Amino acid sequence: MSKKTIRDVDLKGKKVLVRVDFNVPMKDGKITDENRIVQALPTINYALENGAKLILLSHLGRIKEEADKEKNSLRVVATRLGELLGKEVIFVPETRGEKVEQAISNMKDGDVVMLENTRFEDLNNKAESKNNPELGKYWASLGELFVNDAFGTAHRAHASNVGISANIETAVAGFLMEKEIKFIGGAVDNPARPFVAILGGAKVSDKISVIGNLLTKADKILICGAMAYTFYKALGHEVGTSLCEEDYVDFAKGLLDKAQGKIVLPVDVVVTREFAADAESEVVAIDGIGKDQMGLDIGPRTIDQFKKELEGAKTVVWNGPAGVFEFPKFAVGTNAICTILAELEDATTIIGGGDSAAAANQLGFSDKFTHISTGGGASLEYLEGKELPGVAAINDK
Ligand code: ADP
Ligand code: MG
Repeated sequence: MSKKTIRDVDLKGKKVLVRVDFNVPMKDGKITDENRIVQALPTINYALENGAKLILLSHLGRIKEEADKEKNSLRVVATRLGELLGKEVIFVPETRGEKVEQAISNMKDGDVVMLENTRFEDLNNKAESKNNPELGKYWASLGELFVNDAFGTAHRAHASNVGISANIETAVAGFLMEKEIKFIGGAVDNPARPFVAILGGAKVSDKISVIGNLLTKADKILICGAMAYTFYKALGHEVGTSLCEEDYVDFAKGLLDKAQGKIVLPVDVVVTREFAADAESEVVAIDGIGKDQMGLDIGPRTIDQFKKELEGAKTVVWNGPAGVFEFPKFAVGTNAICTILAELEDATTIIGGGDSAAAANQLGFSDKFTHISTGGGASLEYLEGKELPGVAAINDK
């Protein structure tokens, strides 16, 4: 990797600011998925073992008004992190000021202080999200070096990542950031071949740049999910009431012309007459979709077809579920893709995309992939070939 990492710096006795991504899903004040906290532990433990004084910063949710603060406090996350680390995490319910400074000046080597949600500063003219220079400078002044481990935020130039980096001499990547860059960046820039991309999910319009970029990099692109129907329409097929973006039919046509057989479309789909978990369904070939029918999953022949296309693949990047996996009846295709990828030998398998990662976890495949990205939006922008500001701000080797 061309960026400096936490291994390249001496942490002993230093006040080390670490930007983590603890933007975990919450329901009724409880953390519903702690994956992002768990994924940050290698960096935190390494810094502690090396005698750092750790100051953790993260955002959680969106803060638009005073009332958003209570349900987006990081206090519960600090408590959970303390349990996972088996040591006290000193939570300071402020993002700046005397209490913060006092807590930091009282720290001993190996202590952990966590500040309140960085986005509380958004009530201040969006200081965090708009990367207010004073704020980045202030936070940078609290530490001696900066470790950015928040890949999930790397596609945003905020005060707590880009702002701090700009105001401190040393800004390095943590282990999670390093891992994300290695796997997603590696797949896109220097993949072992054959490289197959599987693209699904809801909309072509969300993924235009992803398809465009991967078309130049991958050996095959398997299209599934709702996205397929815009392509069918481009080929002149009836798509019934399936999700289809009329405005992108020409774009899809253009891609098919350009792709020269690289793009593989499903040969059959599961259709229903209503969008419901228990809707009656049938499997039809793609030229057999009725006017009043909508496709909610890929069919069994497509699963076989995808399996053949994936045989011998050495790199697979998957973004976007194959169907409406939230309804178990229409999770069959997504489940089958998980199984096929889990059984590939000697292949690097990577999931980028929030819903795809959720689907793999929900279906019990969380440990069956080489890498499941923790950053939905960030991994998508990476797959689009964009430079992520949070990554760019880290010191080069
Ligand atoms: P990701 O977050 O992984 O990038 P997207 O956000 O693009 O994925 O898409 C996920 C959504 O796509 C899911 O909510 C899923 O229900 C939906 N989806 C997949 N296939 C279909 C389909 N055939 N019709 C309607 N929605 C679909
Ligand atoms: Mg999504």
